[in-house]
Amino acid sequence: MKAARYYGRGQIQIDNIPEPTLTPGSVGIEVAWCGICGTDLHEYLEGPIFCPQPGQRHAASGESLPVTLGHEFSGTVYAVGPGVEDIAPGQRVVVEPYIVRDDVDTGPTSKDYHLSKDLGVIGLSGRGGGLGERIVVEQRWVHPIPDSLPLDQAALVEPLSVAYHAVERSEVSKGAVAVVGGAGPIGLLTSAVLKALGATVIVSELSSLRRQKALDTGVADYVLDPREIDVTQEVFRLTEGRGADVAFECSSAQPVLDTLVDALKPAGILVVIGIWGDRAGIDMFKIVVKEIDLRGAFAYVNSYPAVIKLLGSGAIDLQPFVTHRIGLDGLISEGFDTLLHHSESAVKIIVSPSGKGL
Ligand SMILES: [Zn+2]
Repeated sequence: MKAARYYGRGQIQIDNIPEPTLTPGSVGIEVAWCGICGTDLHEYLEGPIFCPQPGQRHAASGESLPVTLGHEFSGTVYAVGPGVEDIAPGQRVVVEPYIVRDDVDTGPTSKDYHLSKDLGVIGLSGRGGGLGERIVVEQRWVHPIPDSLPLDQAALVEPLSVAYHAVERSEVSKGAVAVVGGAGPIGLLTSAVLKALGATVIVSELSSLRRQKALDTGVADYVLDPREIDVTQEVFRLTEGRGADVAFECSSAQPVLDTLVDALKPAGILVVIGIWGDRAGIDMFKIVVKEIDLRGAFAYVNSYPAVIKLLGSGAIDLQPFVTHRIGLDGLISEGFDTLLHHSESAVKIIVSPSGKGL
């Protein structure tokens, strides 16, 4: 079968590799669609980060380079291993792409397996990936999806879960006012979750294409261009002098962080989702005297069932966020190139590894 494999920085190849073999307790999935993630670009340009280091085995997976890429995928079950119940061939599924140590509690009430030691990611650290035609995954990480959710949109359950977990971290409630700093894929999906939960959403974004996307998709009530308008003043005007209840940092940019601290109400909650490569500066005086609650949000934990339910209910329509569909052969020339050089025009590029979806 065909698979996109990562050999190290700047080296990704489309290879012909053997099909994965089923083991007890595992599920064989024919991949329908796999999204390209910013993380994949970071691995390509600056990695290995989550991928195994050259000459070394990954602590979580025990695998070394090359590894198959792709961690945002949907597909259809083609076979199940011995001992698998509740899932049968033909079932449409998505995968929560974690690799955790055997001694970590991943039960339905666990709140922290995503923070466990040596955490790995399927499609980065080993165990195959969604940028291959087929993959075998432990049943624990396989989540059935309802018939109402198309497989192309289902490939966005993974990034939507990142957004959902961040919104959970903010404890936002219906009627709250939220400011989202940055309208890249995660900022847009965070806005979508906030809107579905009944918040008023104000998006600050430099790119006019992205601001337009936020308006067209209906995930933002207001979009602000920080070059044209004082975002803090505007948020206070829109909230009749109160300030925002919650804010989400989705850009990893210092001016955005500063603005969000200012735009929050006293005792507001600031959730940082951006993966910062550099140290940020923070006005600690303001954090203290406004009693701002500063929280990180990383990936997701037991979020998939709620996200799938939300999508199944029709509360979020992901169709407008799928902007490009490509085959595996176009992964670098079309997919990566678009995200690296024309990222404003793209939200999610999804790949059909078998080409059947195209
Ligand atoms: Zn990702």
